[in-house]
Amino acid sequence: MLTTTKTKKAKALTCDVCGESGAQLRYVTRSYGKGANLLIIENVPIVVCPHCGESYLTAETLHEIERIKNFKLQTSNLKSPTSDL
Ligand SMILES: [Zn+2]
Repeated sequence: MLTTTKTKKAKALTCDVCGESGAQLRYVTRSYGKGANLLIIENVPIVVCPHCGESYLTAETLHEIERIKNFKLQTSNLKSPTSDL
């Protein structure tokens, strides 16, 4: 049997919007752009606050999404026949 000494509780975050603690991390699927540029990212962590009802992405997550977007742009540009050289 597992002993539960000082078990970590579910991550209690402080809400950036209202400042209350108790905001929780949830994983959602987000989509960006549309058509050929549609980008779907699964398991995006968002902070959900039960106090003010706000849900938002952390700076770290936004940074990661930008990175994925840029990567996607680069790979899709390879298909287009534009050559500047
Ligand atoms: Zn809040």
